[in-house]
Amino acid sequence: MTKFSSEFSRRQFLLTAGASAIASVFLKGCVGNPPSAADLSPKAVALDINPDQKPETTTIKLGYIPIVEAAPLIIAQEKGFFARYGMTDVEVSKQASWGSARDNVEIGSAGGGIDGGQWQLPMPHLISEGIITKGNRKIPMINLLQLNTHGNGIAIANKHLDKGIGLDLAAAKDYIVSLKAANTPFKVAYTFPKGNQDLWVRYWLAAGGIDPDQDVNLLAVSAAQTVANMRTGTMDAFSTGDPWPLRIVNDQIGFMAVLTSQIWKFHPEEYLALRKDWVDQHPKATKALLKAIMEAQQWCDKPQNREELARIVATRKYFNVPPEVLRPPYMGKYQMADGKPDINDPMMGPLYWKDGRGSVSYPYKSHELWFLTESVRWGFLPKQILNDAERIVNAVNGEELWREAAQEAGIPTADIPQSTSRGVEKFFDGIEFDPANPTGYLNSLAIKRV
Ligand code: CA
Repeated sequence: MTKFSSEFSRRQFLLTAGASAIASVFLKGCVGNPPSAADLSPKAVALDINPDQKPETTTIKLGYIPIVEAAPLIIAQEKGFFARYGMTDVEVSKQASWGSARDNVEIGSAGGGIDGGQWQLPMPHLISEGIITKGNRKIPMINLLQLNTHGNGIAIANKHLDKGIGLDLAAAKDYIVSLKAANTPFKVAYTFPKGNQDLWVRYWLAAGGIDPDQDVNLLAVSAAQTVANMRTGTMDAFSTGDPWPLRIVNDQIGFMAVLTSQIWKFHPEEYLALRKDWVDQHPKATKALLKAIMEAQQWCDKPQNREELARIVATRKYFNVPPEVLRPPYMGKYQMADGKPDINDPMMGPLYWKDGRGSVSYPYKSHELWFLTESVRWGFLPKQILNDAERIVNAVNGEELWREAAQEAGIPTADIPQSTSRGVEKFFDGIEFDPANPTGYLNSLAIKRV
């Protein structure tokens, strides 16, 4: 038994599910064994639902990608939180890639697709505006809840060890740029073009004086192809969610250079967004889903639940990975390389409910504005869109539904943000984003396409 699991095996904890039972959870399974029902804490108990809050439907199909961001959806399903709020027939459906998720939400569940689910920003905005859909069809989406912060990083192929590639790229800039001149450009991969992984890796490169469009080659690789692509040299760097960076490290084909939590502490990461037509038809069911996911987020953030969380999401049905590659990130433990100190801080790993700046779950409009602004920075969206950003954010953002759901769920007022803006955001290189002045932010950046 690992030290981690033995630490957890001693603990007892109160069920969060309202039932007064105290469960002793002795996680006796050895590393690598599939969890048995006896190892898991009981499911949540169904509520007597207020007739005013009874969902219009019990069914929805939610897509997810097998990375730590999906945990609140999987836990809401597996621990019975969806059923607790009357959503007894939720299907949580694994998507082969972000492109598949986009295609499936275009179809909708009636056509065999999905009604929504997990998204990188600004995908819900790009889908709503018809920018990444087939035939540029506009499919309005509502962005309802942030699933997580952190839990993402950039892994580098081993052949680039000892070149100074880390958070600050100043020492590595000449080396990386020289690869292009030598006709062996540094190939940087992300999981979906124009999605947040693309934006994270661009931010990091540009902060180090490396122009992501001119000095390196960028490409999209689905998470499932990650290990093979780094092994064969198809990519030199990969920006993605846990557990993929650690798989690269464990397979000894690459090393961790930087975590997104170092680039932008407590940054917005991935979200729950649904088709607007579904939300409009099912406002009470939407809030039931939100209440269930909020409860799942609180469950996920309890340290005593993280061992069980790792075991549930690792199973064949979900991520289909050894739980060993999930335990370290869930403890905030990251083995860095090239002389950089290892990280051992739970606040640097994936967080789901609260972080050092307050609510993780609440979908701030100011964060959506950053994603649109950063998309303008790289020419993904025309500059004029900033004149229209308020309309786009207001159309897509579903913070009112989040608030109503939080109130219905009895979330303490102190845990419900008062403003739709989190205020000024600060990046590792000293750059600040003031949501009141996105143009000032763009002006402060040296490398940009605008
Ligand atoms: Ca991610």
